[in-house]
Amino acid sequence: MKNEMCLEFDSISANEAFARVTVAAFMTQMNPSMEEVADVKTAVSEAVTNAIIHGYGGEVHKIVIRGEIDGEWLCLEVKDRGVGIPDVEKAMEPLYTTRPELERSGMGFLFMEAFMDEVKVESEPGKGTKVIMKKRIRQQEE
Ligand code: ATP
Ligand code: MG
Repeated sequence: MKNEMCLEFDSISANEAFARVTVAAFMTQMNPSMEEVADVKTAVSEAVTNAIIHGYGGEVHKIVIRGEIDGEWLCLEVKDRGVGIPDVEKAMEPLYTTRPELERSGMGFLFMEAFMDEVKVESEPGKGTKVIMKKRIRQQEE
């Protein structure tokens, strides 16, 4: 079974909860465990928070989430058209943050990688950032 969705919303922090709850609702049809839902919600939160804080630096612009269910696989893309990341490899290192003054700890990408099966980041300075995450959801026994 294949199923796609697309969600576009403003980069304001009130929409973090909206985004993670919406993605959680989308994935219910995969019959996930509570833990799988919690994992995906955490990963979506981290990616959306990054788009709001780092990508747009607090300015209000659009964030787009694309979701696709393909059999047992959930694929999510979280995209902003913000400042972009000059060195993705470095940005993904544990504890690396460019905003320590905001009490950021540089753990966001680490959480995304821990809770999803695959995380890929495409980014271009001045153009924006796309975080692509995949997770395999094994059908629960009824
Ligand atoms: P934490 O997530 O623990 O609050 P953090 O956001 O700094 O801290 P990560 O989420 O791991 O840590 O991100 C690491 C760094 O990557 C950020 O400090 C920022 O420089 C950069 N970054 C991440 N996402 C984006 C984005 N969407 N646009 C621009 N830069 C980003
Ligand atoms: Mg972060």
